[in-house]
Amino acid sequence: MTKKLVIDPGHGGSDSGAVNGSYQEKNFTLDIALAVHDYLQNHYMVELFMTRKTDKTLSLKQRTDYANQKQADYFISIHINAGGGTGWESYIWNGPVNQTTIDAQNIIHNTVMNEIGPKYQVKDRGKKRADFYVLRETIMPAILLENLFIDTTNDLHLLIDNQFITDLSCTIGEGLAQALSLDKKTLPKDQDHTQDRP
Ligand SMILES: [Zn+2]
Repeated sequence: MTKKLVIDPGHGGSDSGAVNGSYQEKNFTLDIALAVHDYLQNHYMVELFMTRKTDKTLSLKQRTDYANQKQADYFISIHINAGGGTGWESYIWNGPVNQTTIDAQNIIHNTVMNEIGPKYQVKDRGKKRADFYVLRETIMPAILLENLFIDTTNDLHLLIDNQFITDLSCTIGEGLAQALSLDKKTLPKDQDHTQDRP
């Protein structure tokens, strides 16, 4: 059976998420989510669903209802942090979770940090747990990523760097592929080379 993955770009539409001047979290989350989607579609056997592919307003319940109705194998929510820190962190629910949830966080977190940490001097803020709605209300294993701080100058410089967004998105995709044990596509697709690793 082909695994089903739901990718959730945080915020959207009337909900901008965190803001710094003209920069809005909802746009960064969509860019990263679309790049993760394209990377996986080009390289791995997986059935992909996105809670939104455009600048659309969605409640948290709509996001988790969608994933639950799809009977997804895994749910990933993409966010940008705010509040004056720096770096990258991942979250799983702080309630009872199964081993798959814990293992997947370890794999995705380590895959991203091993690549992005040294290459871009991104601080590892750690593997965390919290009572976030989308983590609690999804019936499948779920993770939420906080990808740098929109209101910290060095972090924002990376977020507006296309190469960084590409590298980050590819490593998130690679982490997901390993966590879900996805099979590689045998025939390389002759398009979207921009999403390939350098
Ligand atoms: Zn957010």
